[in-house]
Amino acid sequence: MKRYSVTSKRPTHLLGKIMAVVFFVCFSLQGIAQNNTHKKVLLNCNVIDCTGAKLQKNMTLVLEGNKIVEIKKGPYTGDTNEENVTVIDVENGYVVPGLWNMHTHLSALLPDPKHIEENESLASASIRAGLNAMDGLRHGFTSVRSVGERDYLDVAWRDAFDQGFFMGPRIFASGNFVSPTAGHRGYVEHGADGVAEIRKLVRQRVQKGVDLIKIFSVEMLQDELEAAIQTAHSLGRHVTTHTREPDIYRAVKAGIDCIEHGYGITDETIALMAEKGTFYDPTIICNLSDAYIKERENRLKTLGYANDKEISYYRTLINYADERSQEHALYQRQALKKAVDAGVKVVLGSDSMPIGEIGILEMEQFVLSGVSEMNTLIAATRNCADLLGVLDKLGTVEEGKLADLLIVAKNPLDNISNIREVKMVFKDGVSVNLDQPQGTASYWDYFSTSNLKKGFLKEAENAAGFQRGKAKQD
Ligand SMILES: [Zn+2]
Repeated sequence: MKRYSVTSKRPTHLLGKIMAVVFFVCFSLQGIAQNNTHKKVLLNCNVIDCTGAKLQKNMTLVLEGNKIVEIKKGPYTGDTNEENVTVIDVENGYVVPGLWNMHTHLSALLPDPKHIEENESLASASIRAGLNAMDGLRHGFTSVRSVGERDYLDVAWRDAFDQGFFMGPRIFASGNFVSPTAGHRGYVEHGADGVAEIRKLVRQRVQKGVDLIKIFSVEMLQDELEAAIQTAHSLGRHVTTHTREPDIYRAVKAGIDCIEHGYGITDETIALMAEKGTFYDPTIICNLSDAYIKERENRLKTLGYANDKEISYYRTLINYADERSQEHALYQRQALKKAVDAGVKVVLGSDSMPIGEIGILEMEQFVLSGVSEMNTLIAATRNCADLLGVLDKLGTVEEGKLADLLIVAKNPLDNISNIREVKMVFKDGVSVNLDQPQGTASYWDYFSTSNLKKGFLKEAENAAGFQRGKAKQD
């Protein structure tokens, strides 16, 4: 059946257009007619719409096809006996917009203690990317932004989900980075150098179907930076950059749309970002000190979210692989709070995998950084749709928007970790099966922890080859 896609302006060849029309006429009309009139009535909802409005209790939501058509106080007054109406009692669950994870690398393993990524085939990486995305959806992430991915895997999975081959989140894809040679502290072997090459690479990415451009701006010369931004904007794509000061200020001045990480971001830059409407994706999860990691895990233990030893071990390992000095961690934590207070539009991104669990951890780190629960939810929903230019369709719970919803059992405004109590997820009006797929393998076990359970930290350090407290990925 036709899936509504909110990503726009993808290149479509004439033949593709003709085929799409033929397919639509032959196979889709009946399905669309059914889908668009089928109603789901959600009773007894507590709605946190993420527009900035307060919690609304005792609400009824009506979904029709893939849209939210009605939100009103009290019980449903329509006819529930009609054949095309499904009534779902949400039992005072809390309805929030589907979450977004804005900094993902779907196939990546950060860290990779088993050295799986070395010489890994495209096919193998592709399977992990899809698993990761689908797992994220079951955690409530109905949309993800990919900011650096090999071989356009993100574009392929986006299309597979949009076409309905699998049930996955909406993906906004960047393809691989745009960077000069030796960009990202020497990491990029063969980059694009000079204005002409940068323009060409941006255009090639767009030709391959990306929705945005991710750059490494630190090593770019001024003309290269401006060329990347100008070319992407001319093709209707936003540009985001992995950067640190003093480059953050320069990139913001040059008209970048979003900053990733923002190491050492200054008060002056924060003020400029607020003024210019530049988005900030702080990935606070990869800026934690030993003390902050312990603080986080102790908190989760108290709340009863550390019972799955495998997950606790691995998420801790992920954080230690990126462990910072206390000074650095404190600085980034305070910068996040300052940015939110200054009115910078902050978004939520995990960087590390898997995107579901680590995305939730990032929300928890926002609150530990002093950001309110409401602003954390808005950073994970409304602001993200705003950056992608789809706020008219997604990002809040409002009449007329697409029905991407997360329903949790307890109030996330009381405690952000209540976002873990997933009752239901809707993507495009369809209820997501929250059970694990029939496969029995554990993502955590297979990709990371099997031999790390005893004395895991020491072994993990050796395996991943990292030095405690000296992460240098800025
Ligand atoms: Zn990243």
